[in-house]
Amino acid sequence: MADPRFDRQVRFAELGREGQARLQEARVLLVGCGALGGFLAQHLARAGVGTLVLVDRDVVELSNLPRQVLFDERHAREGTPKVLACAETLARAGGPTRLETHATHLDADNLPTLAKDCDLILDGTDNLGTRYLLNDYSVRQRVPWIYAGVVGAAGLVMPVLPGRGPCLRCVFRDPPPPGTLATCDTAGVISPAVGLIASMQAGLALRLLSGAPDPEVALLELDAWNGEVRRIRTRPDPDCPACGQGRFPWLDEPKAQRAVTLCGRNTVQVRGQGGNLDLDSLSEKLQGVASNVRRAGPILRFCVEEHQLTLFPDGRALVEGTEDTDRALALVDRYVGT
Ligand SMILES: [Zn+2]
Repeated sequence: MADPRFDRQVRFAELGREGQARLQEARVLLVGCGALGGFLAQHLARAGVGTLVLVDRDVVELSNLPRQVLFDERHAREGTPKVLACAETLARAGGPTRLETHATHLDADNLPTLAKDCDLILDGTDNLGTRYLLNDYSVRQRVPWIYAGVVGAAGLVMPVLPGRGPCLRCVFRDPPPPGTLATCDTAGVISPAVGLIASMQAGLALRLLSGAPDPEVALLELDAWNGEVRRIRTRPDPDCPACGQGRFPWLDEPKAQRAVTLCGRNTVQVRGQGGNLDLDSLSEKLQGVASNVRRAGPILRFCVEEHQLTLFPDGRALVEGTEDTDRALALVDRYVGT
């Protein structure tokens, strides 16, 4: 007898009992437990996926609540780490899924340990650096991952099945220069867009984990405001640095020191990611988002969330008011974008 809990999804023939049994054996790494991550965690845990490895470096804040469905006001008041708040809410629903929580910043050093024995990696992150790192790892280790991103009312989803289709760098060769892309913290975001993108991602995840035939790989663009769906065909690029040529700079570069604490100054320095920062356009984007936005010669300064940030044209940032490198990286990724 199948577990009555999963009766309705087992009746869905494409999944079936066999697919369900595979789901319950699966181990999935979920990177980022905020907006996308909350919806993803909920879909996968309720579907009975065997083990969910939850990684997130942030704590819950009040401005998360409109779209981060696993959190409540108490979590925000107490500044609960997102992975713990996520696990607490999911545990109330019960079910067989084992939840592992890691309140940390994912990087090239800890990724191999966190992703060990995982069948799939899900992107619930808020920054491109981590996505390119996941892509490097996925292609090198031949572990599938599902890319997703949302800003405003729209977003993108693409499954990466190493050896069976294109990777992220086949489609987006290099990340755009820092500061040029809108982020949710500068351009805003609405919950239906997050739910739409995460549901598409979760559906593909269940399909891959259940052992069903591969979906046709495409870059999907969905818009929850205009009700539009676009399917952009993609194919592997033999010149792709990752899957074509086997180069993995995000994985091989010692992470090090993207962020270092400046001793005795209560300040963290975050290294630029290469390329020049367009401080004029960033300064415009930050109007109404950050306070005290001002240029001083070549640099840009502004205040957000009780911290002062100073940005240099080479992309370097100083984050004052903390010695916590994860916190500083989170602020730079949110307000500058990477
Ligand atoms: Zn590629």
